[in-house]
Amino acid sequence: MSQRIETLRGMHDVLHTEVHAWQAFEAQVRAVMSAYAYQELRTPMLENTALFKRSLGAATDIVEKEMFTFVDRDKRSISLRPENTASCVRSAIQHGYLYQGPLRLWYGGPMFRHERPQKGRYRQFHQVGVEAFGFADPDIEFEIIALGERLWQALGIAGHIRLELNTLGTAEERAAYRETLVAYFSAHRRQLDEDSARRLQSNPLRILDSKNADMQALLADAPKLWDSLGDASRVRFETLCAMLKSAGIGYQIVPRLVRGLDYYTHTVFEWVTDSLGAQGAVCAGGRYDGLIEQLGGRPTPGIGFAMGVERLLLLIEAGGVGVAPPQPHAYLLLIGERAGAEGMVIAEKLRDAVPGLRLQTQCGGGSMKSQMKRADKSGAALALIVGDSELDDNSVTCKPLREAREQNALSFDELTETLRGIVAAEP
Ligand code: ATP
Ligand code: MG
Repeated sequence: MSQRIETLRGMHDVLHTEVHAWQAFEAQVRAVMSAYAYQELRTPMLENTALFKRSLGAATDIVEKEMFTFVDRDKRSISLRPENTASCVRSAIQHGYLYQGPLRLWYGGPMFRHERPQKGRYRQFHQVGVEAFGFADPDIEFEIIALGERLWQALGIAGHIRLELNTLGTAEERAAYRETLVAYFSAHRRQLDEDSARRLQSNPLRILDSKNADMQALLADAPKLWDSLGDASRVRFETLCAMLKSAGIGYQIVPRLVRGLDYYTHTVFEWVTDSLGAQGAVCAGGRYDGLIEQLGGRPTPGIGFAMGVERLLLLIEAGGVGVAPPQPHAYLLLIGERAGAEGMVIAEKLRDAVPGLRLQTQCGGGSMKSQMKRADKSGAALALIVGDSELDDNSVTCKPLREAREQNALSFDELTETLRGIVAAEP
């Protein structure tokens, strides 16, 4: 036997036994996006490496060590997308959408990061996200946060997630804060770990993100970004907070929340959970007013978030609010040679006559006993039996599988009526 080939490390099949949970999640996502009039955008999974370098910033974890980057046959550097904001911006610029007024987009699909795989952290994982272009005021912040909250409600996990919020101010205020921070950390250089010492020049805000227990006291005493903010930025943030309060959306202001990416300005936020161990962030985002210009578009404000689908599904599963996989309504047994051929046509007629019907047929024949076993295993509510005698008098024998009721012979019309009733009774 030749050697088996398996999936790459950190990349997973979504098995047929698991996919219904994904589909249910995707249906909720579509419903919520539609409730806010966001339109879906699908971009390629491969892009020019420069797109991510320029948008995320060269000194970010993603660009420094997580991207799947290749030289292709044309000797260009290309990368599997590690996130999708840059691609959405690229697309809007490329197709001239920024000239047509504000735009609300959403997307969903696989992202790729070369990280150490563990529970809730994979090399191919999935994100659903929104991006809104052309909105300068904090009402759009409120909108996308409310949208997220509505989705958690619909998924039944709102009680397990909390919202953390912060503001980074304008690019200038952030730059001024950066100076203050570099001065502070330089004065305490000996207390910095290796990673943080390296970030001191390249990405000092990211030091605040450090989980190193030995540095927590140093971080707690660090100058606060809030003190570098001008009045306009403060008012902006307070306006958002007031809107959230009046909508009853809970949040916690976390001054150390800076997010790893260079492009954020003003509002940044994360939804986190305590139920998934170290992988606590399920959704993260913020405003990126400089990014579109940075990628060659006309200056346009932008904001968005991305959620990790696998982490949300783990959370849904942990909360026991998962949905059962859909089972066929009926299983068609075909007994004998004639039925094997003619029965398949009957199955087509049933599917024509009963919209929404989930009908599984026995293909390949077999004894009554073995077919009945499969019917039972399929989870169907009804076994439909077609053999020579049914074909002779134009009937189908109908046997309830999940309740103690006698089987009976039905005409085609009686059968379709019964099946329509079953389909209609579904929630
Ligand atoms: P983390 O701190 O967990 O590494 P991140 O800040 O790198 O997260 P973002 O780039 O903000 O994550 O991506 C948004 C969301 O995508 C995260 O909150 C998380 O739910 C999910 N996510 C990010 N990286 C992974 C991964 N490797 N595997 C699974 N989900 C991920
Ligand atoms: Mg990460």
